[in-house]
Amino acid sequence: MTEEILKVEHLNKFYGDWQVLHDINFDLKKGEVVTLLGPSGSGKSTLIRTLNGLEPFRKGSIYFKGKKIDPTPKEWQKLRQEIGMVFQSYDLFPNLTVLDNILLAPTKVQGRNRADVKKEAMELLDRVDLADQANSYPRQLSGGQKQRIAIVRALAMHPELMLFDEVTASLDPEMVRGVLEIIKELSDRDHMTMIIVTHEMNFAAQIADRVLFLENGRILEETPGKQFFEHPQTARAAEFLSSME
Ligand code: ADP
Ligand code: MG
Repeated sequence: MTEEILKVEHLNKFYGDWQVLHDINFDLKKGEVVTLLGPSGSGKSTLIRTLNGLEPFRKGSIYFKGKKIDPTPKEWQKLRQEIGMVFQSYDLFPNLTVLDNILLAPTKVQGRNRADVKKEAMELLDRVDLADQANSYPRQLSGGQKQRIAIVRALAMHPELMLFDEVTASLDPEMVRGVLEIIKELSDRDHMTMIIVTHEMNFAAQIADRVLFLENGRILEETPGKQFFEHPQTARAAEFLSSME
């Protein structure tokens, strides 16, 4: 049986008194790619942030690799070494070079040998065609380059799960493809387990093993990727897809 990486059970989340996520249930097996789709404000970012401990939740359980998460700050700090996340905004440290951005967490948090991590970082940079920018500062890079570095920085931690929240949403159109290609290769070549929020429907259709369609903080449907894009189960999802064309 394929290893279960994540299981979410009866997750409910509130902002103050207002409930933003309602009874979320799904699981994710090793190597699977789930895309989270839904209109703006449906709770996609909130869900993905909750899965990385950036938002507290009030009810329900999250299991990571079969173990129920004890949602304390200390536990989340540990788990974030295994759950990588890349956001829409480039969150690189502006005062550090590209290489130092990548080396920081593996050396300081994981205590790994700097020379080993550096070798690996250079291989990863080469893979995203940015080895020549190792000593540049983030301000010297384009948005697309910064997102490729942000992905490399997350990968340098050897995560078991990667979360992507609209990583191409702020990019100029000509930068989008290079970033999406890297994510696609992570799936095809590395079989990385991923949850992806994206507005790029062609990309989602190519990469999604399953689609979770959210509206108003509820999973309206959970459908195999190919089927979702050809025959969504709900009228609401069909309407959403035609609005995205
Ligand atoms: P999506 O990513 O699908 O666009 P979000 O998760 O960002 O949706 O937002 C879901 C809902 O929660 C929206 O109505 C949004 O306005 C609200 N929301 C998001 N963040 C907060 C917050 N920190 N405090 C209160 N409400 C929030
Ligand atoms: Mg969002």
